[in-house]
Amino acid sequence: MTDQTASWIAADRRHAWHPFTDQAEWEKSDPLILTRGEGVWLFDSEGKRYLDANSSIWTNIHGHGNPKIVAAIQEQAARLCHSSFLGFANDKASELAERLCAFFPNQLTRCFFSDDGSTALEVALKMSLQWAQQNGREERTGVIAFDHAYHGDTLGASSVGGVSRFMKGYGEAGLSVYRVSSLEDLRALPEIVIKTASAVVIEPLIQGVNQMRPWPKGMLDGLRAWTEEKGIHLILDEVMTGFGRTGKMFACQNEEVVPDFLCLAKGLTGGTMPLAATLTREEIYEGFRGPEKTFYYGHSYTGNALGCAAALANLEVFEESQVLEEVERKGALIESRLREISKVLEIRRVGLVIGFDVAQGTGKEVCQALKNGGVLTRPILDTIVIMPPLVISEEEIDYLLDALAVV
Ligand SMILES: *Cc1c(COP(=O)(O)O)cnc(C)c1O
Repeated sequence: MTDQTASWIAADRRHAWHPFTDQAEWEKSDPLILTRGEGVWLFDSEGKRYLDANSSIWTNIHGHGNPKIVAAIQEQAARLCHSSFLGFANDKASELAERLCAFFPNQLTRCFFSDDGSTALEVALKMSLQWAQQNGREERTGVIAFDHAYHGDTLGASSVGGVSRFMKGYGEAGLSVYRVSSLEDLRALPEIVIKTASAVVIEPLIQGVNQMRPWPKGMLDGLRAWTEEKGIHLILDEVMTGFGRTGKMFACQNEEVVPDFLCLAKGLTGGTMPLAATLTREEIYEGFRGPEKTFYYGHSYTGNALGCAAALANLEVFEESQVLEEVERKGALIESRLREISKVLEIRRVGLVIGFDVAQGTGKEVCQALKNGGVLTRPILDTIVIMPPLVISEEEIDYLLDALAVV
């Protein structure tokens, strides 16, 4: 190990604090210092390369260092990195809001920017609840969410989450939440819950943090019909599923569902910059127009020009490439290769979102061995996540599966 690497590790051990991490264990480890990326590859400070098999926690789409996205960021950085969206507009945010709404013409017509998946959810939840208060539905103060859901870590977003190990210490803080486990459960809710709920929030098609668990086919469509019938908003958390992972640009398009709120983040900038967007309907927007109806929400970096420039370039790369058309084929290829590996137990997959189970208690070990073999991913308990950048080639899939076969 070079002295430089050693000093970065020492500084991290002494001063940094990592997310979702047992620091007592971390301090004893030698973390990789990642310093460069190219396509599906990440390079550490010692020059060793690793295949980024979970797209740097579900963010990367077109590979690291995509020339078009990098050029857009560089060009924007030289012109203007940031100006306030409070009181001013900017060219890139204007273009991006228009481009995102164009995916759902006349249906989702308004785009509210924020910074992360969690904040995209905060915006949707607050909009739904405040809309109810100022549009004659004052009794609707609750939110319905699903067991084992994950919607982010800010207080409001985590209060609609259903992963019990993440809720210790503040599980009761935040919103008034009713939890259900299925569409059948939802239909069986007491009338009083249904009449006082403002929104249902769900990760469409597949729950990510819940060990990559797909919903039954048609569930989303059924949920949309139920929420319409009951006058409850549907919030779709597409923070993970958005931007091609499921084979369509957005997961809801697989069941031709349009929500009342669509939350986007992670892949929005192709995995380059923190930026989020919450899309909603004109009717919701209308309910906030006028004195006393303002949506009092915003962050310092709302509508950040660098992020918006990156997101526009991300969408252009989709348009110019065949990447979306190949998602299902690549996903099916990985799945079929996984079936040949004996330690792979159950496999769950939607598009290029793949989770497979390994023997109980071995998830961490398997990922450690994969790291030694040049593949980076993280387990969720004993589920190994394979969610590579969409641009992964067949040769790179071979490399990934070969590494998996020998751990
Ligand atoms: C990652 C994720 C979030 C939270 O996004 P952050 O950018 O980490 O705040 C919310 N919902 C889903 C489904 C996610 O996968």
